[in-house]
Amino acid sequence: MISLSGMRMVVAGGGAVGSAVALAVRRAGAEVVLADPARLGENASGVAAGMLAPAFEAALDPVSAGHFGIYRQARDRWPSFAASLGRGDLLNRCGAMWAQADSDGVADMGARLEALGGAVEMVLPEEAARRAPGLAAPAGAVFTDEDWRLDPSAVLGAMRQALHREGGTVRAARLTGFTPGRVVLSDGAVEADALVIATGLAPAGWPDPPAELQWLSPIKGQILRAGGSPPLTGPVVRGPGIYVVPDAGGPWIGATMQAGLDDCAIDTEVSARLQDAAAALFPGLAQAPATALAGVRATTPDGLPLVGESSRPGVFLALGARRNGWLLAPTLALAVVEALGGRQVAAYLSSRRFDPTWIRAG
Ligand SMILES: Cc1cc2nc3c(=O)[nH]c(=O)nc-3n(C[C@H](O)[C@H](O)[C@H](O)COP(=O)(O)OP(=O)(O)OC[C@H]3O[C@@H](n4cnc5c(N)ncnc54)[C@H](O)[C@@H]3O)c2cc1C
Repeated sequence: MISLSGMRMVVAGGGAVGSAVALAVRRAGAEVVLADPARLGENASGVAAGMLAPAFEAALDPVSAGHFGIYRQARDRWPSFAASLGRGDLLNRCGAMWAQADSDGVADMGARLEALGGAVEMVLPEEAARRAPGLAAPAGAVFTDEDWRLDPSAVLGAMRQALHREGGTVRAARLTGFTPGRVVLSDGAVEADALVIATGLAPAGWPDPPAELQWLSPIKGQILRAGGSPPLTGPVVRGPGIYVVPDAGGPWIGATMQAGLDDCAIDTEVSARLQDAAAALFPGLAQAPATALAGVRATTPDGLPLVGESSRPGVFLALGARRNGWLLAPTLALAVVEALGGRQVAAYLSSRRFDPTWIRAG
């Protein structure tokens, strides 16, 4: 167990990643200030569907193709992390199911999931409709229990409460500057031994970030929340170009991957396309009232985040988690504590891995 006792840290960014990092740093004994000018959930973390999806992410996202093992390990950190919040109930081991009208497509997805080495079950059409109430009878379906889900708003709230309870400080302020020993926030300076940047993309309003942040680029995601219509429970259901995530408050329907866009404007044509695709799976969703939301993910060239000390001494990174910030949050928090404690971060996460000099040295 690494001790950061006696150290003073500032974590900039209060999304899934920054919240988990602040908590982990505090639990390792450091004094911590979590700074974010936004209200809780007003970020990518707050509009995410909350899937912890090692299997389907590796099967569907080309950039994640080789990451199943990393993602599964990250998922397995969630039960103890959720329990440490006193909210093990926030984790739903619901599994995920691919359903499609084309049986060749179903067979292909079954083969892709099987190739990962995870648990896969071919499901007959009647059984698929039983497991996912409201599902249009598909030609077939394939289910995996590798993928889980959490409720992002509830978990953000639980992390914030835990941080308050355990002695962390939260400031509604923006990071604007850093010199060794001193972090400048929009509401005043803080003496600190280290700064952790957990702002998703490069921090807004900081003119001079570390060079590693050049490797980040935005991917806008638009998503719908359908009020009251099924499915309210059951597995996540995926089909070509769409997912439907059951939720007691109404399912989440998502999501676009709009590389290069960093705005949160709602495009009504995009919303209509998402709703049509969801209705192909669940016909009842065609007319369901739906609210559109958008957020901006950050990605690196290899789809994994930047973690650990940057080229600027005293500045640590935990950002760029692409489509898997929720999945990876407890893992990144642990890696940051290790880096702050002087240990080396795994090469596949290292914030320096795109620097050719560092790779040669490593
Ligand atoms: C539509 C959509 C669906 C998604 N679904 C999933 C999913 O199912 N599962 C999953 O694992 N991931 C999902 N993701 C991805 C996930 O949401 C992100 O990877 C994750 O939210 C990143 O968390 P973060 O804490 O790094 O960044 P964010 O949540 O973006 O938080 C960054 C915070 O930094 C703050 N900030 C910015 N500049 C400063 C500054 N100068 N000073 C202080 N604070 C600052 C911002 O105000 C913000 O609150 C989805 C994303 C989208 C958009």
